[in-house]
Amino acid sequence: MIIILMGPPGAGKGTQGDLLVKKWPTFCKVSTGDLLRDQIKKETEVGLKVKDVIAGGNLVDDDLLFEVLKNFLKEQGDKKILLDGFPRTVNQAKLLDTLNNQYKVAKVVNLSIDTRVLVDRLSGRRICSQCGAIFHVSNFIMNQEQETCPACLSGKLVQRPDDFPDRIKNRLEVYENQTRPVIEYYKQRGICSEVDAMGEKDQVFKRLIETL
Ligand code: AMP
Repeated sequence: MIIILMGPPGAGKGTQGDLLVKKWPTFCKVSTGDLLRDQIKKETEVGLKVKDVIAGGNLVDDDLLFEVLKNFLKEQGDKKILLDGFPRTVNQAKLLDTLNNQYKVAKVVNLSIDTRVLVDRLSGRRICSQCGAIFHVSNFIMNQEQETCPACLSGKLVQRPDDFPDRIKNRLEVYENQTRPVIEYYKQRGICSEVDAMGEKDQVFKRLIETL
């Protein structure tokens, strides 16, 4: 069984997904962005292929990513899956349907949010290079280009290359053109609901749980 969290970059899919698996441990969160960044970190063949595509804020090839996803899913046994960041094209949604015997898409939630809020969230986002914790610059005074992570106290806080302003603009355009039609794909199937993703993360989580 699969639940899909959809929404533009910066809508909070990762944050809400983490809260959800904490509440429902029978679910395993799968973020295709994380899977790809892991490949880049390990400098695998896939990682080398996708590095520049991701840094530019463009989408990785559907078939290539689907192979990465399938390999990861094989390792998850019979866990229920919470998908974050996949599918991002209608073609990917159709590829996912080919796994229907094993993984049926039960529910899709679209996190909807104002574009202005997205740009602020993405441009102010800093990630710990060590533990992956996510922060926003407004939550503390960044007195150096690379601040030490307040969570693990060892990693450095860095900006994702695709969070640079020109890349954000591209990612939002890519979202509108290629990913928004996926919402329609699932709405036609009657399994897609909207959740207002404006406000504090706990408020949004409450709405998400009510919807699910
Ligand atoms: P995310 O962490 O979900 O924002 O993803 C970061 C980047 O990884 C995206 O901007 C794409 O370059 C790539 N990526 C992640 N998921 C997908 C996907 N489903 N299809 C194509 N590219 C993806």
